[in-house]
Amino acid sequence: MKGLTVLGATGSIGVSTLDVAARHPDRYRVVALTANRDVEGLARQCLRFRPEYAVMAHEASARALAGRLRAEAPGIRVLAGVEGLETVSRLPQADYVMAAIVGAAGLMPALAAVRAGKRLLLANKEALVISGALFMQEAQRHGAEILPIDSEHNAVFQCMPPGFAGGLSGVGVRRILLTASGGPFRNVPAQELARVTPEQACAHPNWDMGPKISVDSATMMNKGLEVIEACWLFHTQPDRIQVVLHPQSVIHSMVEYRDGSVLAQMGNPDMRIPIAHALAWPERIESGAGSLDLFRVAQLDFEAPDLQRFPCLALAYQAIEQGGTAPAVLNAANEVAVAAFLDGRLGFTAIPEVIAATLSAIPATDANDLEGILEVDARARSVAERKIPRPV
Ligand code: NAD
Ligand code: MG
Repeated sequence: MKGLTVLGATGSIGVSTLDVAARHPDRYRVVALTANRDVEGLARQCLRFRPEYAVMAHEASARALAGRLRAEAPGIRVLAGVEGLETVSRLPQADYVMAAIVGAAGLMPALAAVRAGKRLLLANKEALVISGALFMQEAQRHGAEILPIDSEHNAVFQCMPPGFAGGLSGVGVRRILLTASGGPFRNVPAQELARVTPEQACAHPNWDMGPKISVDSATMMNKGLEVIEACWLFHTQPDRIQVVLHPQSVIHSMVEYRDGSVLAQMGNPDMRIPIAHALAWPERIESGAGSLDLFRVAQLDFEAPDLQRFPCLALAYQAIEQGGTAPAVLNAANEVAVAAFLDGRLGFTAIPEVIAATLSAIPATDANDLEGILEVDARARSVAERKIPRPV
């Protein structure tokens, strides 16, 4: 029986994780659930899964949750804030930690899990984008196991030979082919992009995801963040990673070997597949996902990405090539710009403008210590905030 902490339990990945775990009560016991402000959502999950701990990042929400649980589940300990999140990431009874908080807010609890030597199921790609070098170093030092949940990286992981931690060339791998659906605006003419709404941006054709990653998919920053994530997870450079547009989202990514063989991982676009894979690895368990109906899929298409129409992808390549703190700046500016777009304060095509301006305002430095990284993250947020037009 493995103890499981789910960070970001009320989100899209959190809910899918609990769905998979609930199918295997003999294998997984939920020890802690966390959320930001969704008191009702977390209370319902607590009553169903009866964890030992429930954490709300937002303090007043934690008080509300404690009040809500007092009568029905007095045994559940309610904690608050980042310290609470870190506490449940380190619990001795939590063998596995699902990192499914969105954005930089997920970094500290994910790092706490790594430093406690857990099996980390990593959905929170922003954590690696911000502090990849440090994160991977700490994982090695503390014997933590990082299993990718992002469908592309999970696919690559499944297609990789053992021993890839020593570098791709050593195991005969030539390239990683990272697939991208192209999001909801793949075929929208460039001149119409300036007017698209948050609602349109969040209506992804293949995946049902949280609002931030949905906008990232629409700008293709999601793929940019994923290129950076793949560099760290698979110990490689961006020039070994080719982004391939594949609108059907059936091939989740591929690995090309030196002899010309290309291995792909395929399946329905259902996040329960990578979640079940990472929970049970190296075993295989039921995820709840149906069989892939290739006759219905019928056809698989591939295109090269258009970096002119999707400047966010080009900005991400630029940031990882610059290295050091540049990816942290990219991520912070993107979080600020996406939040402003979702609030109706910024146009869709202004998102890459805010990011580019922030990247040019903050020169990249070394990203070896956490304090320095967090400082740069804060600075990039305030610079980006100032690039957003004030309402008149
Ligand atoms: P979501 O918005 O649906 O859920 C986010 C979760 O994080 C919620 O439980 C929320 O309460 C919590 N949260 C938000 N802000 C917080 C804060 N400041 N402090 C603590 N908790 C906070 O997001 P999601 O779509 O589930 O995505 C989660 C992560 O997984 C993201 O990093 C995303 O990029 C990654 N991911 C998601 C998918 C997907 O299919 N949804 C696929 C691949 C990767
Ligand atoms: Mg992905």
